[in-house]
Amino acid sequence: MAKVYNFSAGPAVLPHDVLAQAQSEMLDWHGSGMCVMEMSHRGKEFMEIIHDAEQDLRELMHVPAGYKVLFLQGGASMQFSMVPLNLLGDKQSVDIVNTGHWSKLAIKEARRYCNVNVVASSEDRNFAYVPAEETWQRDPNAAYLHYTSNETIGGLQFPFVPSEQGVPLVCDMSSDFLSREVDVSKFGLIYAGAQKNIGPSGLVVLLVREDLLGRARADLPTMLNYQVHADADSMYNTPATYPIYIAGLVFKWLKQQGGVKGMASRNAEKAGLLYHTIQASEGFYTTHIDEPFRSRMNVVFRLKDEALEESFMMEARKNGLIQLKGHRVVGGMRASIYNAMPIEGVKALASFMQDFARQNG
Ligand code: PMP
Repeated sequence: MAKVYNFSAGPAVLPHDVLAQAQSEMLDWHGSGMCVMEMSHRGKEFMEIIHDAEQDLRELMHVPAGYKVLFLQGGASMQFSMVPLNLLGDKQSVDIVNTGHWSKLAIKEARRYCNVNVVASSEDRNFAYVPAEETWQRDPNAAYLHYTSNETIGGLQFPFVPSEQGVPLVCDMSSDFLSREVDVSKFGLIYAGAQKNIGPSGLVVLLVREDLLGRARADLPTMLNYQVHADADSMYNTPATYPIYIAGLVFKWLKQQGGVKGMASRNAEKAGLLYHTIQASEGFYTTHIDEPFRSRMNVVFRLKDEALEESFMMEARKNGLIQLKGHRVVGGMRASIYNAMPIEGVKALASFMQDFARQNG
């Protein structure tokens, strides 16, 4: 088997042990004689799988009582519509922080249903920072405040959780879910697409405070209504059974790795290695993100000489370091180093970057 370190932003690397376990259980899950993909979602085997996945997630994130865990479909993008359609209630307007590509898409979609008050934006400096909270122009009557805790494309991460101020907090945590400790009780709703830190794409995981359910517009399609999914424990229709199974294995793996706390310190170390390499390169590599806001999940950087970028990627590939190309809207390079990326992969990349700089500097 080719040994590579995969720095893709998502779908992204999964823990090797999880894939190996899924492989060993592929044809016969726990003596059932069935593959998980073949099971009835209402049979006792799958009920055990989804129950365990939920319990493990609750444990990992210390989810307080009064929150529903939902396993839905349509990816995180579906939430750009579902959030306003379900949470607006009788309010006219929502607050959204604009820190980059994914915030912009959340804003664009919410504008189809209500007024959007962009409370703050860092577009003036190409999304290099998170505007200081004291400067935000918040509306006390907003239905909620939405922000993107980690901008996957820009490589920008919130180092703080905004204050509630009587308005429920909604967070798109797609690319840093389970990567650092979070006090769930501060949030009205957290959602995360699965394909970074959870499992296969298509699945989206939600934690929603129960008092926010039941506010959906009356004409909302049934499948878009949180209350319907909450009442049915994510089983209103056939859920994404195999992705939920893999997510459950990832949650068990995380518990063995010291939980979210253990991950957080490893993630800090991994990101530290790469940013240190960039800084020590004397301008050969650069990152445009202000220091306090540099993402620990997606390290975005450029080469001093853009003409070298193609050869950087080709050489990296020869060294088994793959999927380092930045997103087309920002260009340059991006190393995504989610929970499942081992420190050895990051060390290999750092050392390759040093060698490449030495040879081409
Ligand atoms: N939000 C963020 C922060 C993301 O990184 C992504 C996907 N990269 C999305 C939303 C959209 O997710 P999906 O493709 O699952 O709809």
